[in-house]
Amino acid sequence: MNIKDRIVQKEIFSIKREIESADNNEILIIGHTERGKKVFATEVVAHGNKISVPALKQYMQKGDVVLHNHPSGNLSPSNADINIAAMLGSYGIGFYIINNEVDKLYIVSEPVEVKKVESVDSFKLLKLLKPGGIISSLFNHYEERESQAVMLETVIESFNKSKISVIEAGTGTGKSLAYLIPVFKWTEKNYERVVISTATINLQQQIVENDAILAAKICGVNPKISIVKGRSNYVCHKRYYERLEENALFNENDEELKIIGEWLETTKTGDRSDLSFYPKDDLWGNICSEAELCTGIRCPWHEKCFVLKARKRASASKVLVVNHHLLFSDLSMRRNGNLGSDEPAVLPPFMRIIFDEAHNIEKSASSYFSESFSFTTISKYLKRIVRVVRGKNIGLYYYVKKSYKPADKAFTKIPGIVKKILASAENLDIGILSLLGKSGSSLFNDLINDKSRAKVYELIKVLNEKLLKFSALGNFSVSNG
Ligand code: SF4
Repeated sequence: MNIKDRIVQKEIFSIKREIESADNNEILIIGHTERGKKVFATEVVAHGNKISVPALKQYMQKGDVVLHNHPSGNLSPSNADINIAAMLGSYGIGFYIINNEVDKLYIVSEPVEVKKVESVDSFKLLKLLKPGGIISSLFNHYEERESQAVMLETVIESFNKSKISVIEAGTGTGKSLAYLIPVFKWTEKNYERVVISTATINLQQQIVENDAILAAKICGVNPKISIVKGRSNYVCHKRYYERLEENALFNENDEELKIIGEWLETTKTGDRSDLSFYPKDDLWGNICSEAELCTGIRCPWHEKCFVLKARKRASASKVLVVNHHLLFSDLSMRRNGNLGSDEPAVLPPFMRIIFDEAHNIEKSASSYFSESFSFTTISKYLKRIVRVVRGKNIGLYYYVKKSYKPADKAFTKIPGIVKKILASAENLDIGILSLLGKSGSSLFNDLINDKSRAKVYELIKVLNEKLLKFSALGNFSVSNG
C-alpha cells in the first residue's frame, strides 16, 4: 500500500515530525478523512499508551482514522491493536499502523465512508396524522392529538440535526407512534440502525407486535425490527445435554428438564419466554447460555445455537428493541474496549437511540458505569483466609501453615494485613453510611460537599493501599514435610 494514496503529503511530514519530537516512541494520531478516503488533517492525541485509545473516542467521529506507529518497523497488529480496531470499527472509525519513517502503512480496518445525512420531511409525516391522512382511514373515530404531533416533530428535528431531545409525554399521547414513524423513515433514508430502549418486556412486545405494524402501515416503510435479549434468556444446547448426562449419571429424573428437552426439538427461538411454563431458576441457571461457558464457533452445537441465531437476526435488523440493562451492558463493553475478543458487544453497531420509559435509565446506567464496594463481600472472602471462632484460629491461612509450612517470611504477615484490610473496609463502610442520611441511599455526586467527598476518597485510598500490600505478598514457597 502506497502511503501517499491514504495520507496527503503535508500530513506525512507533520506526523514524522511529531514522532521525532516524541523521541521515536509510540504515539496516537487522529486522521480526518475526506468521506472516509484520504487523510487530509491530523492531530496527535496521545503519547506512548495504547490503552488510552477507547477514552479518546470522544475526540473522533465516524469516518476518522486512528494512526498508530510501531517504532520497530514491524507493522503486524498486536492483539491489543486488533481489539482497539474492532472497538473503533463499531463507530465507523478506521485503524492504520505506520512505521516511524511514515513511508509504510498497514490498514487494520478502514473507516466508513461518511454519507451525507438525508433529512426526514416533518411536513409530510405530520400530514399522515391529520384528519383525512392515512391514520384516520385506519380508525373509525380518529381524533388528531396535538401532543403527538408536537412529539413527532421534535423527534424528527432531533434526528435531522443530530440533537438530543428530552420529551415528557403524558398517557394517551401515542408516543410509540410519535417516535416509530420518524425512526422508520430515518432508517429508510439513511441506512442507519436505530435502537429503542425500554425498561419493560411488556412495552418491547407491544412495540414489535402492535405499534411497529401500525407505524409501518401509516408511513409505508417496514424495516426489519427485532427484540434483542441477553444471552441468559436462551437455552444453551451444550449445557442442556451436559445437565441431561449428569442427571442420568445420578439416576435423577427431572420432569422439567424432560419437557424442556421436548421443547428444544421444536422451538425456533430457544427463548425461555416461549416455554409454556416458567422453569425453576436453579434449573434454568444450569442450562441457559452463559458468556464464560460458551465456546462459540468451536461449540459442536453452534449451527443450531439460539444465541448466535438471535445475533444474526439483530444484525439483519434496522431497528432493535432492547431493555436499558442490555443497552448499558453493550455500551460499557464498547467503552472498555472489549470488542474483538471472543465475547463481542451484545448489539450490532447502531447510530441513534430512543429511550422510552426513560425514568428508569439512571439505575441501569449506574450499575454499569460505577464501581461497587461491599463490606460484606470483602469480609466474607477475608474470613475464609483468617478468622477466629470461639477463641480458635481457623481459615485457609492456618490450614496452609500447618500442612505446608511455608518458608517465606512474607507468609507470616498475612493475618496482620487481613486484619488491617478488614478495619479499613469497615471504616469506609461507616464513612459512606454516615453520609447517606435517613434515606440510606443517594448518588455520590449529589449528596456531599467537597470535604465529605475528600473524606470518602481518603478512606478508599487507605483500603486500596492495604489491598495492594496484600497482593504484593505474591506466591509462597512451601515445604511438603
Ligand atoms: S455456541 Fe455457546 S451458547 Fe450456543 S450452544 Fe454452544 S455453548 Fe451454548
